[in-house]
Amino acid sequence: MSNAKELSEKLGYQRKNFWESNPEEHDVAFTFAEGYKNFLNSAKTERETIDYYQQVLEKKGFINIDRENSGNKVYRLARHKNAAIALIGKKPVSEGVNLIVAHIDAPRVDLKQNPLYEDKTTQLGMMRTHYYGGIKKFQWVSTPLSLHGTFVKNNGEKIHLSIGEKEDDPVFVMPDLLPHLARKEQYTKKIGEAINAGKMNIVFNSIPFPQDNDKVKEAVKLNALAILNEKYDILEENFLSAELEIVPAGKARDAGIDKSMVLGYGQDDRVCAYTSAQAIFDAKNNERTAVVYLADKEEIGSEGNTGARSVFIIDFIADLLEFNKEKADSKTLRKTLLKSQILSADVNAAINPNYPSVHEKENAVHLGFGVSVTKFTGSGGKSGSNDANAEFNAKIVNIFNSEKVNWQIGALGKVDEGGGGTIAKFMAEHGAEVIDCGPGLLGMHALYELSSKADIYSSYRAYKAFFEKA
Ligand code: MN
Ligand code: MN
Repeated sequence: MSNAKELSEKLGYQRKNFWESNPEEHDVAFTFAEGYKNFLNSAKTERETIDYYQQVLEKKGFINIDRENSGNKVYRLARHKNAAIALIGKKPVSEGVNLIVAHIDAPRVDLKQNPLYEDKTTQLGMMRTHYYGGIKKFQWVSTPLSLHGTFVKNNGEKIHLSIGEKEDDPVFVMPDLLPHLARKEQYTKKIGEAINAGKMNIVFNSIPFPQDNDKVKEAVKLNALAILNEKYDILEENFLSAELEIVPAGKARDAGIDKSMVLGYGQDDRVCAYTSAQAIFDAKNNERTAVVYLADKEEIGSEGNTGARSVFIIDFIADLLEFNKEKADSKTLRKTLLKSQILSADVNAAINPNYPSVHEKENAVHLGFGVSVTKFTGSGGKSGSNDANAEFNAKIVNIFNSEKVNWQIGALGKVDEGGGGTIAKFMAEHGAEVIDCGPGLLGMHALYELSSKADIYSSYRAYKAFFEKA
């Protein structure tokens, strides 16, 4: 008997490949990913995500906390960019909630508030843009793009747009420079500077409005306005009160010859939105009240009244106390938050086989090895990080072990290689225990991010175990 081998397995930490260690879960992980891909395809922006959940929540029997006063499954939506979903547990809410927070905004390119112009030299109708979040600008050129968003007319009427997703829809593009003429303009520059934000305008149209004797100056721009007015009944002024987002056109797809992965836009962090929502829908016999919070604006620092630094979720928990016929004064709310446990559900960077040097492989996330538990994020000496307490870390790991969740340790990159943060530190300000927990991605923030069906399913299992056992 090989004593050393046995001892090494017993004493050492070894992350496990889900496909090797959980063969009985292959099929269920694949099936789970089908629902996930459908979600990604119908929810490409934060507004579309909230619309999606509005429908799903009603179907699942959740009630609007502002409309009814009894039940144990409640929700609140706010500003078409936030959702809070709760499953009231057996214990009082004031014993603390188990909250999972995920963000539903993703890096993208927005239209400027006055976007439309006609390029004089080429007589092309163009749209000016302003990017949102951490994008690599060179990825966005010469690729098919779709336009999603909402116009709000001055009388409050809303007009929703989604152009470029259906088979016969037109798409848009920011044409890149041909290599033949890129020598000075691009090749002499650093990669981050080669595409200037001012050169990310999209080509919108090219046919001029039919001219009569009174020639107008910008007939191509006029034709764009005429088409928009005919189709959507809008004026140029309505762009000023619009939120229009440009995202990669097309659907999420299976990736790899074995179809074990998913390639799609906006998986940071809609993978955690979907898996945490599925977890609260399926959670049973939870002692503590379970809450899912879908936040906006994480990619620009959790700012604004729809970001995680806003009062929305705290206000919701206060209302949960009241809904559950408990005291909801400020001290009770504070104590409730202090006793709460939070998973900051966000993606992590899995080791990219093309760039292994930026990771430290023993501490980095491996694609297909399950959900990652990340004690701290940040950069340059843990700066800007919520560093989870070891006691809470151990509690979570213990639950995952006893529920046979495939999990792994996950740190973001080598020390001083770069870094980044999540919502964790903002949630921790309220005094709750917080830890980061989510799947790894390859090519995070790219137009198409790669995830593993193993990790998607493991995240769902982890979140459900957290709601039921933590
Ligand atoms: Mn994220
Ligand atoms: Mn991100």
